[in-house]
Amino acid sequence: KSAKAKSGIELYQPGAFHIARQQFTTETSLRRAIEANRLTLAFQPVIELNSGKVTSFEALARWREEGVDIPPSTFIPVAEESGLIVPLGRWALDEAARTLKLWDRVAGSDVPVRMAVNVSAIQIARDDVPTMLREAVARHDVAAERLVLELTESVIVADPDRAAKAMESIRQIGATIALDDFGTGYSNLAYLQRLPIDVLKIDQSFVTGMLGNRDKVAIVRAVLSLAEALGLRTTAEGVETLELAQTLAALGCTRGQGYFYSAPLSAEDAYAFWARSNSR
Ligand code: C2E
Ligand code: CA
Ligand code: CA
Ligand code: CA
Repeated sequence: KSAKAKSGIELYQPGAFHIARQQFTTETSLRRAIEANRLTLAFQPVIELNSGKVTSFEALARWREEGVDIPPSTFIPVAEESGLIVPLGRWALDEAARTLKLWDRVAGSDVPVRMAVNVSAIQIARDDVPTMLREAVARHDVAAERLVLELTESVIVADPDRAAKAMESIRQIGATIALDDFGTGYSNLAYLQRLPIDVLKIDQSFVTGMLGNRDKVAIVRAVLSLAEALGLRTTAEGVETLELAQTLAALGCTRGQGYFYSAPLSAEDAYAFWARSNSR
């Protein structure tokens, strides 16, 4: 066999070929779905643990292809590898702002909730996120103060200077920044102090199964006291039971998000959820 054939051999292993082809198929159909505006957003309420009121919603991308739901854990990595996360992320922010405005119209005044949107590290690296934010708030005439951009620690690890610049601009425009999946990355804790971060989202891997697990409780406690010392608010993800909600509140966590309160909802159902929780 020639050297050329040898270097290409991995591609011709049936498994690798299958994976490559599947990735290509997903990428092609994802591109079409974005272009045809066939993605949707689901909105999950974030609850103030003490009052039980909705403080914000997190917008989560949904993709249904021929009656089958393709989970974000499948298509977000494809979107990130292919660069499609740039148009997808732009669409998500725009759609989130549009939905907020839609709710305002239904309510007859500004609905007092914030809207959080996930922003990938790839977007910070390759796109102009502050300009995208400015454009979305202008197009839909919503105050930037009502938007939260959720960034993961990986954004800081990838390019700290660029991340810092983007974050400062985002803050200047008026939006808030949440650090998503906190505790799962390897960012330097010193950045927490230097960067304009407002909220730490405690990753659900620490919250789920926390009861009766000393290590997880210790991590959650540590994050909560760190957040308190730095004046950051905290949202616990993966709150699946009343007991968890109560334990987190007792530990000083301010907000919770999870199936105990609600799964991600359609725009209509999310609005109804807010209206109900607000009238109690
Ligand atoms: P994430 O940002 O950490 O979002 C929270 C995930 O936890 C969501 O999964 C949500 O449905 C799920 N979840 C909510 N409550 C519970 C609970 O009580 N228990 C458990 N086990 N899970 C819960 P989802 O919607 O499948 O999204 C997965 C990930 O995909 C998100 O994780 C986020 O990283 C990414 N993603 C989703 N939409 C977008 C988007 O528009 N842009 C970007 N860049 N990423 C997105
Ligand atoms: Ca998130
Ligand atoms: Ca998260
Ligand atoms: Ca996560």
